[in-house]
Amino acid sequence: MEDVDIDELVSSLTPREENSALKSYQNTVSVPCPACEEPFDDLVVCKQNPTSLDLSQTLDLCVGVEDDRALIFTHKP
Ligand SMILES: [Zn+2]
Repeated sequence: MEDVDIDELVSSLTPREENSALKSYQNTVSVPCPACEEPFDDLVVCKQNPTSLDLSQTLDLCVGVEDDRALIFTHKP
């Protein structure tokens, strides 16, 4: 996987929620996932290390790292 330019990526996405542990964005414009190149549904940026994700559904996940932050790209199966 190539390095992700998170600022450029995030500028195309719609912010959804933010708390002390993470920030999430919705991909409303079908930006391709940097890992698998399929459009992802949401991007979660982890702000704490370690942190937990409360997933309410089963998702396929792609993971990247940028500046020591974990980036999680979710794909609905
Ligand atoms: Zn992916």
